[in-house]
Formats: sequence, structure tokens, C-alpha cells
Amino acid sequence: MIYSGSCHCGAIAFEVEAEITEAMDCNCSMCRRRGGLLTFVPRDRLTLQTPASELSTYEFNRHVIRHHFCAICGIAPFADGEGKDGPMAAVNVRCLPDVDLEALTITKFDGKRF
Ligand SMILES: [Zn+2]
Repeated sequence: MIYSGSCHCGAIAFEVEAEITEAMDCNCSMCRRRGGLLTFVPRDRLTLQTPASELSTYEFNRHVIRHHFCAICGIAPFADGEGKDGPMAAVNVRCLPDVDLEALTITKFDGKRF
């Protein structure tokens, strides 16, 4: 299935091809503040529909994940980085309006240990 996603103001819009039935709730220093729910897809399944220049990017810790956010509305729709099987994206499913959040299986991830 192809989901449309965006930040709040629409400066960042994208499509992601995935079967989304579950999401990860991470407690790392960033996720606990941001409050997103993440699902992981190969980076090439995510297609930006707005210019890449609209992405503001934050990195921390080991600087291996690029946390993208919108400089206008502040929403963080996805991150990307190198996974063990190639480039991956971590999509904030809260930014995909067609995902029924109540139907997802939520897995807790103890990211604060890393
Ligand atoms: Zn925005």
C-alpha cells in the first residue's frame, strides 16, 4: 500500500510504500520528547514530493541517523540512515493520515540504553 505523508504545514510531503501494521515507541532522549511512532522501510520506498531543501536535519549521539524536520511547523515526519541491509528510513506513522493508529501493534523499544 502507498501512504501519503507530510509535516503539518505541507512544506514536506512524501509517499511511502509499506504494509504498516505495527510501530515502534522508543524512549531515547529524542523520541521521548518528540512523541513519534516509528515504522522502518528501505529508504527507496520513501519518495519525497517536495524539494529535499525543505528538510531541516538534526543529528545527535553517533550521528548515524539524520532526523529530518520541518523548519516552518516543527513536525518531524521521518529520519534516514544506513541500516545493516542498506539505506533505511524511519517514518513517523503519526504523519501518515491514512494509518489507523488505534489498529497498530505498538512495540516498546528501549532506545535510552543506546
Ligand atoms: Zn511543515
